[in-house]
Amino acid sequence: MDSIAPREGKSIVDDLVRVIQANAASLSEIDGAIGDGDHGINMNKGFTLCAERLAGKSFDLAEGLSTLGSVLLNEIGGAMGPLYGTFFREMAKASKGREQIDSVAFGAMLEGAIAGVTAIGGARVGDKTLLDTLVPAREAYAAALRSGKSFHDALGELKEAAEKGKESTRGMVAKIGRASRLGERSRGVLDAGASSCCLILTSMAQSMQGLLAPHDRKAAT
Ligand code: ADP
Ligand code: MG
Repeated sequence: MDSIAPREGKSIVDDLVRVIQANAASLSEIDGAIGDGDHGINMNKGFTLCAERLAGKSFDLAEGLSTLGSVLLNEIGGAMGPLYGTFFREMAKASKGREQIDSVAFGAMLEGAIAGVTAIGGARVGDKTLLDTLVPAREAYAAALRSGKSFHDALGELKEAAEKGKESTRGMVAKIGRASRLGERSRGVLDAGASSCCLILTSMAQSMQGLLAPHDRKAAT
């Protein structure tokens, strides 16, 4: 079947924690160029706290993402706490109660995350934020499914578009958040949130691709 059992979500959340922990220093370095250099610290704190909360427990994808979202929302400061808190809580909501995580479910999770982040942050594509990774990644994913590609291959398209979206922030002037105070001087470097969002989406896609059975990997003809 071209889908993932919700209980396998544990490994998706565990992988996410590891990726953020491994990249904390580099995310703070990126944030240091046009921000205050705390993005990796904030992220690492939140994801590690979540891992501590979940340690020794069994949980499914919705429960894991919900815990992650709540920890970020309630216990982590900076712009990131409420933004990624909402991102993961909306993803949890969209996956909750489903018997299988399939391409449609993951599409709904991405849409929920975009709607939530947009509603609370008010940013748009081009403002040099995490949305510059998230929105094109979701669009490429949806376009791949529309053109008949499998869940596995659509996740591949999502990863590519997330990387391109992240890179696109180099040429942008920040229009919102701390970096916007720099105006033109914010151009020329990556956005920290777009960088963490690329890590997050890539990790989730990679974990899910690994969980999908090999026979699902062929593109529909
Ligand atoms: P802070 O700016 O408070 O230090 P972080 O360093 O944790 O917070 O996060 C900064 C990132 O948050 C930015 O790189 C940007 O991608 C994202 N960001 C800031 N404000 C917004 C917003 N209103 N909407 C979406 N993303 C935002
Ligand atoms: Mg910062």
